[in-house]
Amino acid sequence: MRVYELAKKLNLRSNQLLKTISKLGIKSKSNLSSLSLEEVKKIKELVYQKPSSKKREKICPRDPVITLLGHVDHGKTSLLDAIRKTRVAQQEIGGITQHIGASEIKFQGKRIVFIDTPGHEAFSAMRAQGAQVTDIVILVIAADDGIMPQTVEAINHARAAKVPILVAINKIDKKEANVERVKKQLTKYDLTPEEWGGETICVEVSALTRQGINELLEMVLLEAEMLELKADPEGELEAVVIEAEIDRKKGPLSTLLVKKGTLRRGDIIAGKTTYGKVRSLINWKGEMLKEAGPSTPVRVLGLSSIGTPGEIFKRVSSEKEARLSVEKFIEKGREKTPRRETNLEILLGKKEEKKERVLNVIIKTDTQGSLKALLDVLKNFEKKGQKINIIHGGVGEIKKSDIFLAAASKSLIIGFNAGISPENNDLAKKERVEIRRYRIIYEVVENIERILQGFVEPELEEVLVGKARVREIFKIPQVGIIAGAYVEEGRIVKGNRVKIIREEKIIGEGSIGSLKHFQKDVKEVISGLECGIKIKGFTEIKKEDIIEAYETKQK
Ligand code: GDP
Repeated sequence: MRVYELAKKLNLRSNQLLKTISKLGIKSKSNLSSLSLEEVKKIKELVYQKPSSKKREKICPRDPVITLLGHVDHGKTSLLDAIRKTRVAQQEIGGITQHIGASEIKFQGKRIVFIDTPGHEAFSAMRAQGAQVTDIVILVIAADDGIMPQTVEAINHARAAKVPILVAINKIDKKEANVERVKKQLTKYDLTPEEWGGETICVEVSALTRQGINELLEMVLLEAEMLELKADPEGELEAVVIEAEIDRKKGPLSTLLVKKGTLRRGDIIAGKTTYGKVRSLINWKGEMLKEAGPSTPVRVLGLSSIGTPGEIFKRVSSEKEARLSVEKFIEKGREKTPRRETNLEILLGKKEEKKERVLNVIIKTDTQGSLKALLDVLKNFEKKGQKINIIHGGVGEIKKSDIFLAAASKSLIIGFNAGISPENNDLAKKERVEIRRYRIIYEVVENIERILQGFVEPELEEVLVGKARVREIFKIPQVGIIAGAYVEEGRIVKGNRVKIIREEKIIGEGSIGSLKHFQKDVKEVISGLECGIKIKGFTEIKKEDIIEAYETKQK
């Protein structure tokens, strides 16, 4: 039999058959009459073998999932609305659209999924849990306003997540719009527009007039095509919580985005802390679905509790198995696992592992000037085998979004005269994010040097224990200046080290010299009470200042 004849019999193309033959180690022959029956059988097996799941994954394209990020009021919500309105005909929706935290549109016959603008903090919080839901970030910049602090933050969050950025220059209908200025600003952030010789796609749009929306979507599809997104609908299920709320009537409602496999009604699924049998699946148009494949956001009813954004769900065989796995996880969380490594050691990686030590840092400072100074110093900080990688730098208090970004990108947070709320301090501990706060640039440099050298330093740690707001200042002869304050959080203890915060900046330090509750000297005042504080080492205290109290503890 000749090759083409056998190929025809096996319903293959000749070159496919030849490939299979050579795979089996049989020298390709144009005449196959010398093949043994055994060999023909093997060829048949190989040809009709179901492709492995890895192979199938390679051949199943997946639709892109998009997130819009940007500065407040630059038009993220309006743009998403305009996209939906342009692409989804009213009659197609039929019922009432559901707020499930995500939506889908069709453009040029292709599906595109949009996650409702989550804010940078939610974006990185999901990533801190190991879930990457976004394939492409659309960075929205208002043409009349240009790049603003949260734009920079968005750029850095997207970069840390290694998600490609597509720029939408919005509000071009406004007469104050200045597209060229935005493009020029973009070059400073390594986002040089394509038309200026860079690689960043910029689309000029108006959410108001809907100009440029189609072009934006075209670019989304183009970018998605280049990413070659794949997922196997028949593979193991992986679905991520993107939104969760409790409905008084329906109970816990969670929106899951299916990443891999297919989620079906009746499935039993388990995450880290939540499990349940899927009672119903509802898409954003309010339609009941039987199943949801890769890149489909669905509201799921039937879970035991809402789950947390970023929590990853898998399919399990029984409710019992699900319950056991969740209980085991919760139990594990209760046990205090002995900490072998410090956070910094984790940040730096094992010495032997990498030739070059790279320390990722996030910098928050009191002023633009000090930010620039610090960035200049740290950027040039490159010594033999040591490098600093600046993930983000901004002005203001250390916020939740900074902590999640640090957790997701394994960064050290450097606070330079920058405050932090006790709540965020706790969050940092929970997320095991290391924060170092300084007041002098010299200290930063010295400390970073030591960190990089592997002296994982202070065994002592300053822990924020309370916060009081100054309501009145009393000048008492022979005693000095007393701050009449109200303890807003935690407790203030005599002897505590304190930092004085004014307008989110540290303006001084000292310690609690004396503490009075009404006329009585006390050792401690707890939240909800007023007190008189005399600060040792600082006399410039003013009304509305915040006194942060710290205790020093062994780490
Ligand atoms: P977000 O905070 O980024 O979600 O911004 P919004 O979508 O809430 O928009 C902020 C404001 O800008 C709203 O008053 C919008 O009406 C307005 N806005 C958004 N897009 C456009 C636009 O393309 N042109 C004009 N003129 N105004 C817009």
